[in-house]
Amino acid sequence: MTIEWDAGRLDSDLDGVGFDTLAVRAGQHRSPEGEHSEAIYPTSSYVFRTAADAAARFAGEVPGNVYSRYTNPTVRAFEERIAALEGAEQAVATSSGMSAILAMVMSLCSSGDHVLVSRSVFGSTISLFEKYLKRFGVQVDYVPLADLHAWSAAFKPNTKLLFVESPSNPLAELVDIAALAEIAHTKGALLAVDNCFCTPALQQPLKLGADIVMHSATKYIDGQGRSMGGVVAGKAELMKEVVGFLRTAGPTLSPFNAWIFLKGLETLRVRMQAHCASSQLLAEWLEQQPGIEHVYYSGLPSHPQHELAKRQQSGFGAVVSFEVKGGKDAAWRFIDATRVISITTNLGDTKTTIAHPATTSHGRLTPAERASAGIRDNLIRVAVGLEDIVDLKADLARGLAAL
Ligand SMILES: *Cc1c(COP(=O)(O)O)cnc(C)c1O
Repeated sequence: MTIEWDAGRLDSDLDGVGFDTLAVRAGQHRSPEGEHSEAIYPTSSYVFRTAADAAARFAGEVPGNVYSRYTNPTVRAFEERIAALEGAEQAVATSSGMSAILAMVMSLCSSGDHVLVSRSVFGSTISLFEKYLKRFGVQVDYVPLADLHAWSAAFKPNTKLLFVESPSNPLAELVDIAALAEIAHTKGALLAVDNCFCTPALQQPLKLGADIVMHSATKYIDGQGRSMGGVVAGKAELMKEVVGFLRTAGPTLSPFNAWIFLKGLETLRVRMQAHCASSQLLAEWLEQQPGIEHVYYSGLPSHPQHELAKRQQSGFGAVVSFEVKGGKDAAWRFIDATRVISITTNLGDTKTTIAHPATTSHGRLTPAERASAGIRDNLIRVAVGLEDIVDLKADLARGLAAL
């Protein structure tokens, strides 16, 4: 049976539309079936009409899919949507946030190159540089995130790449991305930004001058704790190298996860707004509580980089960290007294999470390394989800009462 379809318009015209419209519609290429939601293509390979067609596609003379380690229509839709939201010429999806970072460094750096990394990056990122990339002759130094003079002073003649996470985890420090991009470019280096904590809904590093941006899509892009993935985005000329590495090495994204991320992006902005609104209320409330010594949240006027956060981000994010009066025992009592919030180190979920960085995410550091990273034993990190604010406040009040 064949069905005759009207040859009319199937895709949307997205010239000049806004962020929210792109988040919902960019990257969709409807099949002749006319599906309204994006289709999932669970296929490893593709068929060709003729031997000549196969040869032309393999030679890259004709566009089209060859094998899903190279391209897959669902994955491509996610890549195009992320590129639209980050203002990138091109994006490529990866199997996790870590494989996004690996692909970026493997494709842009060679043995003998020097990389500068902000000191407070994700723990596995430090392991990747220290345990593996150093073995292949990539030199690495760490710089305090916010200190532009320290960045300038740390350059060597072979410095190729600067890698930062802004805002940082768990203390919400920032770097002036535009200023750092200028420093990098003056010295002939590239600036890469891990934009996991803000997402393009709150911060667009490429528009501030960064060369490349990457994400753990596992966090807010999914937003509901269901799947692992990542993405790298930037200028086509740089992305060509990253795409080449990924196609060869293979840590590409499954079409199922790409579909979940497409759906995640459709609600990204409204979720981020709700995450930020609850975080602001909780941070302000915590700052008033006698059991709390200090709150780290860039939405508070007491945050030393509050003005920069207002300029550089359109929201302050959803990670609120605070020091309680007392030490590790007090922090653990606080955490154990909660009843709604989940005790886990993950973030970027609808479900609020609570963790003790000194004994979990930063537990493998020596006490001296923890001290230099500013991770004290009485520090607690809350990644604020989407539950009722009254319930979250009541849960944190249980923690305060247990101090
Ligand atoms: C989680 C995370 C990563 C790693 O991402 P995975 O998807 O877990 O591989 C990298 N950077 C930041 C800031 C993260 O929070």
